[in-house]
Order: sequence, then structure tokens, then C-alpha cells
Amino acid sequence: MTAPVDRFRELLRIPTISHTDESATDWASFDAFHAAIQRLYPLVHERLEREVVAGHSLLYRWRGRTPGDPLVLMAHMDVVPVVEEEWRHPPFDATLTGEGRDAELHARGAIDDKGSLVAILEAVEESLAEGVSPQSDVYLAFGHNEETAGGGAAAIAETLRARGIRPSLVLDEGGAVVDGVIPGVTVPTAMIGVAERGVMTLLLTVREQGGHASTPPATPATARLARAIDRLHRHPFPTRLAPPVRAMLATVAPYAPQPLRGVLERLTLTGPLLARCSPASAPSSTRSSARRPSRRS
Ligand SMILES: [Zn+2]
Repeated sequence: MTAPVDRFRELLRIPTISHTDESATDWASFDAFHAAIQRLYPLVHERLEREVVAGHSLLYRWRGRTPGDPLVLMAHMDVVPVVEEEWRHPPFDATLTGEGRDAELHARGAIDDKGSLVAILEAVEESLAEGVSPQSDVYLAFGHNEETAGGGAAAIAETLRARGIRPSLVLDEGGAVVDGVIPGVTVPTAMIGVAERGVMTLLLTVREQGGHASTPPATPATARLARAIDRLHRHPFPTRLAPPVRAMLATVAPYAPQPLRGVLERLTLTGPLLARCSPASAPSSTRSSARRPSRRS
């Protein structure tokens, strides 16, 4: 009998790489991934209803005992492309180093997001083996292009919406067990994302008359564009501490050193100041905090 970590490693070895230009995507990898989870999770595939959405996304329905708004557990099977030289261990070998608490698994997609996908499948497979059946329906929704177009998840959402299904809860990736995300907190912190920043895309156009480079205008188009970008940069949305963020900070407060602990324990007083300082104190070059994992993640 294979262990969960072996199943996880097998799935990590399948290079399900997403490309912005989907004509470059190797769909055979996704077919192989589908076949592998079918083989590795036999009860899931025997007892749940499975459908393929938008070409390579998967939607499973685990029927509940009573009608009611379902739970949707999401994950995605695709990963971002790799720059091989940046890897200490080959990205699709799923190399396991160390033992016990020091064990580390090195692979593209280990955290983002095959870890979530495997955790969901392991939990459902084990529950089925134990004869558990959920009270309401549980859907498993596995997208195939979250890292790029995101069309798979959107198609799944549309499929559910068209059937009049309104989930009571949708649980997706976001956050991990991480080290060093909150300054001074030295214990591993499980970050559960319940809110997210918004996105705004702007297109700036600057027009200028043609002319000779020897007689440029006082403020050429490039300079005006730079000025506009700088002005935008100096007017960010106001930062605020939403209730879930306050709850998180209050939860980590006991693990923070002084004087930070005092700041986190008195958010009614210190909140506005903290909101102003926090974006500057935690610059991140990555898209998600999951890029700084602890070994327990
Ligand atoms: Zn992801």
C-alpha cells in the first residue's frame, strides 16, 4: 500500500505546466494527471460523479444525505513554467530530502497547488473508506489553468450557477504554513486567506506631435507618462484593517515579541498606525506568501 506522500510525489512528477498562450500547453500531461488521480483515488472515482469541464478541468459531486447548499472544495492542477537553473533539485523529480520533521519535498506545485489537491483527494478517499457520507453535497472543483487564463474555474462556476447551485462555502487555495511572515513571530504560522486585495488595470495613453529630436518639447510624452504613473503611485487605496485581519493579528499577538505584541494587543488604539505601516514593512516580490514555506507545509 502506498502512502499519501508517495501519491503526492507521483502527481508532482507530472509536468502540468500552464502557458498564457494555451497552444503551447502540453495537454497530454493533463490527460496523464487525470489518469493518475483516477488510479490513485479509486473510491473517489467509483462513488463520486465526475465530469470534465472546459476541456481539462474536473468537477466531482459527492452526494450528501440531505438536500442543502453544498460545500465546494477547490484546487488547481496546473503549475507555472520553471527555469531549471533556479532549482536545487529538478522541479519535476519530487525529491525528498531529510527525515521526520526535517523532511522536505522539492517540486514545482508542491504548495501551489497540488498540495491542496492531494489533501482534498486523500481526505475524501479516506472518508469513503470509513463509510462517511456528507450531510449536504460536496463538490470537488479542480481547475486546469488557474495560473494563466483561469477559464477552467470560471467554467465550473458557470456550470454550478446554471444548475441553480449556490454553495454555502467555497474553500480554495491561499496561504500556507509559513515562517517569518509576521515580523518577530518565530513559530510557524498557518495563514488562512479569507480576504484578498483587489486588482485594477489601467491603460495610459500619451499623445504627442512628431518632430525632430534636436527640438524636443519641454515635457515630452515619455516624461508626461512617467509623471502620470508617479502620480498614481502616490495615491494608493487607503489601507484598512478589515475584521478578519484584526482577528488574525489578535491571534498571533501572544507569539510576537515586545513591543510588537503590545501593538497587536491594542489594535483599537494602534490599528490606524499599523494599517499605514504594514504594506511598507512587508514588501513581497512574490504573488503569495506560500513562496516562503516552513518545512511543515
Ligand atoms: Zn495557485
